[in-house]
Amino acid sequence: METVRREASCSCGQLSITAEGDPVKISACHCRACQRRTGSAFGVAVFFDREKVAASGASNSYTRLGNSGRSIDFRFCPVCGSTVFWMPEFREDLIAVALGCFEKPSSLVPTQSVYEESRMRWVAFDLPGGD
Ligand SMILES: [Zn+2]
Ligand SMILES: [Zn+2]
Repeated sequence: METVRREASCSCGQLSITAEGDPVKISACHCRACQRRTGSAFGVAVFFDREKVAASGASNSYTRLGNSGRSIDFRFCPVCGSTVFWMPEFREDLIAVALGCFEKPSSLVPTQSVYEESRMRWVAFDLPGGD
């Protein structure tokens, strides 16, 4: 069987990644930091095993502390500013890629929804297997 290969890139195309195989999990996050990072109501992180993702292009780094007190290293394009991927210190085996950066984001469906306490009331998901 052929391995699935997905590509994701920033707005201008300078920074991109390729990911092999299927994601480990896909997390819709309603935390305030994701709202600010995206400028939208929530962020969606597509997690892969770190060794399955290869990046190309220049990236700048922004590190912030998560609620756990561990850092998260965000990589964004220095030209257009899109955050394409990030690496949580608390899961050194995983890398998160922004769902909206994928070529075919509609093929990627969240498996969980987190930080519900700051979810905007008008945001409602109908996740497979969820309630
Ligand atoms: Zn860019
Ligand atoms: Zn978040």
